[in-house]
Amino acid sequence: MRVERIKKNAPFTQDEKQVLIDLARELSSRINLTEVDMYHSAQLKRAEAMNKLTTVFATSLRLRDSLQEILLNIQNTFRFDRTSLYLSDTKTNEITEGYSVDLSGEFKTLEISENIKKELEDEASNSDIRLIIPLSVQGKNLGFMCFDNVLSRTPIKKEEVLSLKQFSQQIALAIDNARLFEKVQELSNYDDLTGLALRRFFKENLDQEVYRSKRFNLMFSIILLDIDHFKKINDTYGHLFGDEALKAVSNVIKSSLRQTDIPCRYGGDEMVILLPRTSGEEARHISARLLKKVKEIEIPSNLSGGKVVKLTISQGIAVYPTDSEDVNELFKCADDALYHVKQGGRGFYTLYEEIKNKK
Ligand code: GH3
Ligand code: MG
Repeated sequence: MRVERIKKNAPFTQDEKQVLIDLARELSSRINLTEVDMYHSAQLKRAEAMNKLTTVFATSLRLRDSLQEILLNIQNTFRFDRTSLYLSDTKTNEITEGYSVDLSGEFKTLEISENIKKELEDEASNSDIRLIIPLSVQGKNLGFMCFDNVLSRTPIKKEEVLSLKQFSQQIALAIDNARLFEKVQELSNYDDLTGLALRRFFKENLDQEVYRSKRFNLMFSIILLDIDHFKKINDTYGHLFGDEALKAVSNVIKSSLRQTDIPCRYGGDEMVILLPRTSGEEARHISARLLKKVKEIEIPSNLSGGKVVKLTISQGIAVYPTDSEDVNELFKCADDALYHVKQGGRGFYTLYEEIKNKK
């Protein structure tokens, strides 16, 4: 603070000096508080954005839908001149596609030139107005995030770099999940009869879910489900009728679940459903709903010689991490619960938690 008196030969009195000193102190303390406030609110904003994105990341399985949202969210939080995301082919490591959002919020698909490839892979491209972060999960190289202020030349702040690194880790995880999901679809490794995914994919998804749940501190449930007396149904009404029954049960499962749930034909008349972010209680509700709907199934009676055949299912539920944190043991828990239901007369469901002491 600088104070001048126009009248040259009237020096400041002691009292005046004291008032000015007090005023200067007061001003510095206010400015300081405002700065602290701004710093905190910037931090808060980043934390909020991070929270929001964490949910998008943890739940999004469809890559295209989420990329745009991810980039827009970052732009809204950090306001760079441009945020771009490049994806590499995991087998060849070649960058194959790129997207960006600029200050105006416009989402664009980028051309991939040899120049860009070189820049992204060269650490020297990083500067205080441009930050490139490789995206990788468990050693797999998935692509790059690139944040730049090349036009405005505003330096990227140190504390932003840290948040961006955290963001990028989560983005990598989301991409990896989405790719896995797409792979399952692409390879069309679905069972012809029921349209459900096959057993080997269940294992892959289960491993992923364990990894994700550990990381985000989430729970999930699995339901192991088996048609009751299916052999007898086959023997009595024929294989064709059995096939129809299997299809009908699978349709009930498919139409009753959320998009993120993964049902799978485990083998024969046994199916398993992975329910991300689902507690035992919630899984139990789902089992009740499945059982109710299966009981309502009506298979055209011309296939069963005019007879009305009622189907029931038995279900065993296991919950991560309470029942076990180990994939194989968790499956065993669901199997034990299912066995218990079968022993107890079928047509019902139970949590492993409820029977573990009765074995
Ligand atoms: P439980 O109540 O104890 O489960 O009795 P279950 O008869 O269902 O027991 P089990 O698991 O031994 O029988 C499964 C039967 O499912 C045996 C097999 O013939 C039949 N099955 C397996 N795959 C198919 C299929 O694709 N179509 C038809 N129609 N039947 C199948
Ligand atoms: Mg059976």
